[in-house]
Amino acid sequence: MTFPNYNDLKAPPFWEMMEGKSVIMNVPSTYPVREMNGVHISGFVSINFEKSIHPKSLVPQLKDMDYRLDVDSEKAHRSMELFLSDVEVTLDARIETYRYLFDNQNWQTFMLVFTATDRLLHFLWDAYEDKNHKYHTHFLEHFRTIDTAIGEIRNRLNDNDLLIMVSDHGFEGLDYDIYINHLLKEEGFLKFEPPQEMNLKNIHEDTKAFVLDPARIYLHRKGKYPRGTVEDGDAEEILSQLENIFRCLEVDDRKVIKDIYRKKELYSGPYLENAPDMVLVAEKGFNLKGSIKADKLADKAIFTGKHTQDDAFLIVRGLTDNSVVPDIPTVRDVVSIFCNS
Ligand SMILES: [Zn+2]
Repeated sequence: MTFPNYNDLKAPPFWEMMEGKSVIMNVPSTYPVREMNGVHISGFVSINFEKSIHPKSLVPQLKDMDYRLDVDSEKAHRSMELFLSDVEVTLDARIETYRYLFDNQNWQTFMLVFTATDRLLHFLWDAYEDKNHKYHTHFLEHFRTIDTAIGEIRNRLNDNDLLIMVSDHGFEGLDYDIYINHLLKEEGFLKFEPPQEMNLKNIHEDTKAFVLDPARIYLHRKGKYPRGTVEDGDAEEILSQLENIFRCLEVDDRKVIKDIYRKKELYSGPYLENAPDMVLVAEKGFNLKGSIKADKLADKAIFTGKHTQDDAFLIVRGLTDNSVVPDIPTVRDVVSIFCNS
């Protein structure tokens, strides 16, 4: 197993195909930065500050502005106050940095990503739902600050500019983390040698399947994994058995799995072989985990919020000149799509 980064990207990012200079701030999985026409500050996971900034000459300026590559979420495990002040400082520095680059670079494309919303929603979904929660106001303030920044950006656009906003996933409350590998162990699909050393290196040759985050099931195929023994001819039978187990899975008398997809329903292309054999989608409130070491099926951790597959996508173009980008819906159409869904 390796952790993929920007060097693993198989296609050029869109900004390498754009004309003119780009400013790209905080896009996930774009570390380490490389040569490009403009400014690039990588997003999470970024390890070394200097390797996260292109051009290097910007490093002292960003350090002066106290720019942070990401919120230090570890702080939430020690103190929520510490975490929240880190969230606030990170957001303030990011807004200050966007203003600086917006005004001082001669850009054609500008992209800015806010990520602390994700961290906040994981730790404090309960604060969002409960008006009497100690951090309810604090939670809302964060989103108000971002709204204000978006409004500011909107007001700085010219009539010919195009503004696109997108979220990469949605959120909901988390009731239980569900450890699918534990279920596979219980049902005899996953074994370790020696049995007490539960990690990917010690998977027993009798193993039929295992799970990696997020809820991606891999058959232990012969020729693909060092001790893999599952033949292609047996794959369908194993997947059907797994499907039956997942469809019946209940916790607290609630169904856990909402949808089950096979590889070819979701994936295609030259890297199909790397794709999982099956993907699970959970019912509301259940978070499917790929931890290999889990010793129980269901648990509750520090998080109160979890990702969903919902997203949002909004295109706003200049207020007066509607002839600039002919192939996209008008703002009114986009808003009505939102209302309908
Ligand atoms: Zn997240």
